[in-house]
Amino acid sequence: MGRPRVVRRAVELRQAVAATRAVDPQTVAALEQRWQTLPEHVRTPAQTLGRHAVGCEGTHGMFPRCNLPCTPCYHSREANRVRVDGRQTLDQVRAQMRLLRCRRGPYAHAQLIGGEVSLRPPDGHAETLLATRAQGREPRSMSHGDIDADYLTALMLGPDGRPRLPRVYFAGHFDMLMFGRRGIERPPDETPARVLARHPSVAVTFTGWLGRELSEVGISRLVGHHRIRPITFVMHSFMDAADVTAAWQALQAGTASSDPRIFAAQQRLQACSYAMAHPETGQLVPARVQHSVLDPTENATLRHTLPLPTVRARAKS
Ligand code: SF4
Repeated sequence: MGRPRVVRRAVELRQAVAATRAVDPQTVAALEQRWQTLPEHVRTPAQTLGRHAVGCEGTHGMFPRCNLPCTPCYHSREANRVRVDGRQTLDQVRAQMRLLRCRRGPYAHAQLIGGEVSLRPPDGHAETLLATRAQGREPRSMSHGDIDADYLTALMLGPDGRPRLPRVYFAGHFDMLMFGRRGIERPPDETPARVLARHPSVAVTFTGWLGRELSEVGISRLVGHHRIRPITFVMHSFMDAADVTAAWQALQAGTASSDPRIFAAQQRLQACSYAMAHPETGQLVPARVQHSVLDPTENATLRHTLPLPTVRARAKS
């Protein structure tokens, strides 16, 4: 039996009122909650988390495999011993996205991440994209990009040959430490000297840029005002898994560690802009916790719940 008519009308009225607001009330509440959980010193006027965005979202524990063997990959040893074509992936995407919608509001961007998503057959990949979209998330497939055109065509077009996805976004992972990409030889090592020897055009580009900057600013101004300063931009500053474990335990206990290193890790976890959902506990965890603390156990469990098919040896005749 469906809901009584009066309840349906009340729900419709509430939705209509919400639709007239510039920002959905659920989003406003999620932003406020995110702001309150940020460390005090990062609640600055320039902070976007908790003001304009609640941050990114990502999947975990459903397709951990990858077919490249990159040296610095954070994936655990068990990740490649799990099958990724099963129904469990779709169920997990639905459950995780439902929780994210419930906790972080009706609109967000979510990455299908945690392994190489293109190892899922095109139909299974398309299903996960549609399930993500159904919960108001704009999905992005995180991929190493070593994919054939046939795969992309089969992803976009259903078995009837008609488009099944309005659009598809990929977040590409490309760096010099990757290994196993088809058609690309891996450099023997990654020292700048070797990079320059192999790619002399980098030196030409750098020299051209330097020349333009010098002519624009002028050498005398640069030298006179001591304007040249080395700056490092750090996109990712790594933490030890042991520190993350201790910091996460302290955060969950609601305490502040007296060890400065662990306390710094705690603050970085609080400020992490990337969340992953655990429907079994109703918890959202920072991606750093997911990858360094929870993934190994999760993948070990998946190895048993989603075992690779066993190949029987042929009997000798
Ligand atoms: S492509 Fe990414 S996930 Fe795959 S092995 Fe390399 S670093 Fe790991």
